[in-house]
Amino acid sequence: MVKKTVVNTLKNALKLGRVSHAYIFAGSRGIGKTTISRILTKALNCEKGISENPCNVCENCIEIDKGSFPDMYEIDAASNRGIDDIRNIKDGINYAPIKGRYKVYIIDEAHMLTREAFNALLKTLEEPPPHSVFILATTELHKIPDTIRSRCQVFMFKPPSKEDIKNYLEYILKQENVEYEEEALELIATYSEGGVRDAASILDQAVTYGSGKVDLASTQELLGIIPKTLIENFLKHLKEKDIKNLVLLIEKLDKEGYDLHIFWKQILENLHSALTNLAIGEKNEIFEENDIKDLIYIQNIFNKAFFEARNYFEPKHIYTLAVLKLKYIKNLKSIEELLKSKAFISTQTQQQPAKQEENTQEQKGFDIQSAILKIGKDAGGIVSAALKKGKIEEREDSFVIFLEETVYPLVEQKLETIQKYFPKPIKLEKVSKKDIPVKKTKKRDESVDKVLDLFQGKIMSYKQQGG
Ligand SMILES: [Zn+2]
Repeated sequence: MVKKTVVNTLKNALKLGRVSHAYIFAGSRGIGKTTISRILTKALNCEKGISENPCNVCENCIEIDKGSFPDMYEIDAASNRGIDDIRNIKDGINYAPIKGRYKVYIIDEAHMLTREAFNALLKTLEEPPPHSVFILATTELHKIPDTIRSRCQVFMFKPPSKEDIKNYLEYILKQENVEYEEEALELIATYSEGGVRDAASILDQAVTYGSGKVDLASTQELLGIIPKTLIENFLKHLKEKDIKNLVLLIEKLDKEGYDLHIFWKQILENLHSALTNLAIGEKNEIFEENDIKDLIYIQNIFNKAFFEARNYFEPKHIYTLAVLKLKYIKNLKSIEELLKSKAFISTQTQQQPAKQEENTQEQKGFDIQSAILKIGKDAGGIVSAALKKGKIEEREDSFVIFLEETVYPLVEQKLETIQKYFPKPIKLEKVSKKDIPVKKTKKRDESVDKVLDLFQGKIMSYKQQGG
C-alpha cells in the first residue's frame, strides 16, 4: 500500500547488509515516519537476526514496540532543541549497544535543533561508530542544513492518495471478512485527509457502529456528515445568492450539532467538482457555465474561510462572515483603483453625461482624488497613503472605509480632519489584511460607468433618469 518505495528500499538495504548510518525521513505529520523508524529498529535488532521481516514476538521486538528498548533513543527535538542532548548522544555513542546490535537514535522534528546542536550532530555523523544508526524525522526538510543532509540517506514520505487509502481500507476489510459499501470507504478516505492512521481508526469505529457492516448511511452518521439534501440546499442558495438562507442554514447546522468544518469541506468539494465539470463542458446539477466566474470567486473566499476557521474558537463566525462577504464585497473597490480612474464622484453627478467628466471640481461634487490630496496636505502624507490602501463603500448616509489593522490607527487619529473633506459621515472599519477583498472590477471605458459599477445600488435610478 503506502510508502511502498521507502519500505522496499529499506528492505533491500537490509537484505544486502547495506544499512546506512544516517537517514532522513521527511514528510508531513502522521504519515508513518515513526512507524517505519521503529520497524527499521526492529529489523536491525530482532533476536532472530537482521531481517527485513522482524519477528515482532521476541523480547527486543516487543520492547521496541513499547518504546522501552534500551538501545533505541527517541529524542523530540521540538522540546529538546539543545546541544546538551546531542552532547549526551556523542558521549554515549561509542559504548556498545546494551541488548541489540545497533543503537538507534531517532530524532523527531529534527529541523528544530539549534545550530550548535546541528554542528555537534554533524561531528558525530562524520565519524559514526559502526553500531549506530541515526534517523532524523522531519516535516520541514529544507530546514535541515545541507552539511547534515549530504551525510544522510533521504527518504521522502509522500502522503497516500485518497485512492491508496481506500484500497488499504478495502484490504483490511477483506482480510477480516467484513462487508462494506465502497462509498463508505471513499468517505472515510476523504475524511482522513491522507492520514492512514486516522483512516484505520475511523474504519474501526465504523465497523462497530454499523454493527459489523460498513455502510454509507451509518458511516455518515458516525462522522457527523451532513445529509446530501442540506448540502444541495446550500448550493442552491449559493447559486441564487440568497444570503439570508445561507446564513440561516449555517445557523441551523450549528444548532443541530453538526461539525461545520466537515460541512464546509463538503461544500468546497462540491464547488470544486462543479467548477471542473463546467470547465470541461460537462453539466452540473446546480450551476451553469455562466456561474463559473462566481464559482471561482466563491471558492476563493470559502477556501480562505476553511483555513481560518480551523484556528478560530467559533468557526460559525468565520463561515457566516464568508457568506456575508459574498454580498457586500461587490460594493467594494480599492481607493487606489478609483484614483487611477478618477471616477469617484458623488451620486448626484451620476446623472450627468459622461463627457462632462472633465468639468470643474464644483460641478463634479465630491471628488475623492482631490479630497485625498487635501487630506494629505492637512493631515500628512502618511494618512493619505494609509487611506489609499483601504477600500471604500458608499452607503445611503455614509461612507465606510475599510482599513487594514496596521494603518487603521493612523487614519483614526485624523478622523476629524478627514471628515471635513467628505460630504457624508465616514465610518472606519478595521479588517485584517486577508479580509480586504481583492476584487478586479471589469474595465469600462466611461468613467461614469465605473462609478455606476461601484455604486450598484444607484444604477437603477440612473438608468431611469438617463433613459
Ligand atoms: Zn524479533
